[in-house]
Amino acid sequence: MTDIDQQRRDVLAQADLDTRAVRAGQVRTHEGEHAEPIFATSSYVFANAAEAAARFSGDQPGNVYSRYTNPTVRTFEERIAALEGAEQGVATSSGMAAILTTCLALLKSGDHIVCSRSVFGTTTVLFTKYLAKFGVETTFVAPTVLDEWKHAIRPQTKLFFLETPSNPLAEIADIAAIAQIAKSANSLLAVDNCFCTPALQQPLALGADIVIHSATKYLDGQGRCVGGAVVGRAEQMAEVLAFVRSAGPTMSAFNAWVFLKGLETLRLRMEAHSANALALAQWLDEQDKVEKVFYSGLSSHPGHDLAARQQRAFGGVLSFRVKGGKESAWKFIDATRLMSITANLGDAKTTIVHPATTTHGRLSQEDRDIAGITDNLIRVAAGLESVEDLKADLGRGLAAL
Ligand SMILES: *Cc1c(COP(=O)(O)O)cnc(C)c1O
Repeated sequence: MTDIDQQRRDVLAQADLDTRAVRAGQVRTHEGEHAEPIFATSSYVFANAAEAAARFSGDQPGNVYSRYTNPTVRTFEERIAALEGAEQGVATSSGMAAILTTCLALLKSGDHIVCSRSVFGTTTVLFTKYLAKFGVETTFVAPTVLDEWKHAIRPQTKLFFLETPSNPLAEIADIAAIAQIAKSANSLLAVDNCFCTPALQQPLALGADIVIHSATKYLDGQGRCVGGAVVGRAEQMAEVLAFVRSAGPTMSAFNAWVFLKGLETLRLRMEAHSANALALAQWLDEQDKVEKVFYSGLSSHPGHDLAARQQRAFGGVLSFRVKGGKESAWKFIDATRLMSITANLGDAKTTIVHPATTTHGRLSQEDRDIAGITDNLIRVAAGLESVEDLKADLGRGLAAL
């Protein structure tokens, strides 16, 4: 690295989030390319046998094999770490791979997890079906009730895990308060920051130890690739990276490049998603055929003040209950003509889904009742279309009831 390269890195290290989102982590090759190149190579060559030996032993830094390191993936890792204010980042092949990697790297048989009960459905399956097989038990708690977090602690507790805002009811967990409780139990707090992204919420600054991402959602932002990331302190990330190198849930160079491009517009997109979601939530709140709207940007939401404190905006996902039951919800969804009927979110295209029979369909009726996933609930992930057109589309749903 030349002196000027080092000076550029120093400037970036001090720069604002917006600047880091566009430029952090880039290393130009001798070709002088302006955009980041895609290093589509599985392995790397050495000048001679001695250099190969030095690279393999770790005596000399440098690339060996793309399950270990790839320059495009490295740039993505540095950029997402910079945005979250983390020492280090590790990219993974999906969001679920990021969660699995974190657990397998940092936990052992006999350890205990305290987890919000309002997390991504597959996370619940991973903890209860697979980690349990290897002797890691999980206790699920209401994310907004601090006493439940405290009372769940056991001597074996090693990890607290939460998502905020939750999907689909936008429950807001108090990251700073739960981080304190985790610390008192000598546990790490991992936050799945998929819904806010670092553009709206930085859990590490609030006391969390690890941030996990499904890059598939807002980091990409246009529904093209599946990927994930784990960021945090160098101490834990060394373990996470060692696991990825041994187990192989690596991100591909092409996907890393797509996510890099996504990060460059992240802040602008998150503001636009949030503005559209707020406008839709306010509009739905005034409609007679809507029973209740769940969006932390509404001042009537119980998590509104907390969300206003720990987030920069309220995010792109809202949900609402229509009058009637499942039939009404399905009629509403089927009457829309613009929105995509899909469970995906974090996309420029607005999506609409019926949680009780899709994303939360695997839960028992009793668990859905506890979680508040009623049959008349609809979730909308606001995209970047004109908000007037989106209102008109929701109006088609209302007119069908
Ligand atoms: C989608 C999602 C995941 C899983 O991510 P994949 O990239 O699909 O593996 C984890 N957490 C949250 C909050 C998600 O929305």
